[in-house]
Amino acid sequence: MSLPEDVVEKYHRAGKIVREIREEMKHFVKEGMPIIEICEKVEEFINKKDGVPAFPCNVSIDEIAAHYTSPPGDERVVPSNSLVKVDIGAHINGYIADSAVTVCFSPEHEKLAKAAEEALRVAIKTIQGGISTSKLGSAIQRIIKAYGCKPVSNLTGHQIGRYLIHTGKSVPNVPHLIGSKIKVGDVVAIEPFVTVAKAAGRVNNGNEKTIFRFVKRKSVDNLYGRRLLDYIQRNFKTLPFAERWFKGFMPQEHYLSAFQKLLRIKCLTAYPVFIEASKKPVAQAEHTVLVGKNGCEVLT
Ligand code: MN
Ligand code: MN
Repeated sequence: MSLPEDVVEKYHRAGKIVREIREEMKHFVKEGMPIIEICEKVEEFINKKDGVPAFPCNVSIDEIAAHYTSPPGDERVVPSNSLVKVDIGAHINGYIADSAVTVCFSPEHEKLAKAAEEALRVAIKTIQGGISTSKLGSAIQRIIKAYGCKPVSNLTGHQIGRYLIHTGKSVPNVPHLIGSKIKVGDVVAIEPFVTVAKAAGRVNNGNEKTIFRFVKRKSVDNLYGRRLLDYIQRNFKTLPFAERWFKGFMPQEHYLSAFQKLLRIKCLTAYPVFIEASKKPVAQAEHTVLVGKNGCEVLT
């Protein structure tokens, strides 16, 4: 089923915003730069263009494959010789575009970023209504291996829904046994993750958590907890958010205990950072596409 015209138009607007700031990041990101500066630059751009960040800008470096954003007051900087994945999402009325680029300061690991880009290009050429997700995974893996690299087997692309960043089908970076098929009208993020041949080729959950999401409404026996939960539901709905986004919302001493409480009673969930199991560097490339009968349209 193809999407209504007004929905497609919103995807186009979200896609354009993400594309513009992603391209700017290729030149903006520098060794030694505070990570928080990158996150804030991306999110400010999205807001300035009348979009809304669909999730906090992820800046995941080297063996951190995904899900790192700056916590409030972050003092970390981009290390020299690093691989920096900048993953950006924006939405218009809940219609999300999701795209990532790897900025590479390590000549040694340049081919990881090239392999991710090429695997993404081939997957985009291959995707169409009716294709199995496993076939896409095979195509992605084949390219990555041809570069002498390894796909990260437990990170996948994903179908996108309204106000839902991950929903429905996954698009794996290796062949798999689940027999799901892509349909015409699906909006899908394709995102090959690539590491070195001798790496484990999978990620584990790290201890650090910098990204959060609303799960369910519960009664909260604390005024500040209730106010914070209202704020989260109203502003982020079912989309991920960062603690940076609460700046100045309530006094710090009330905020800290209210936020911990909401996590403890599972009104909120936290996304752990994903770390390559053998601590090897990871590159990523990502586009969001709208699937058609004989191909796709790249939205980002
Ligand atoms: Mn992404
Ligand atoms: Mn994605």
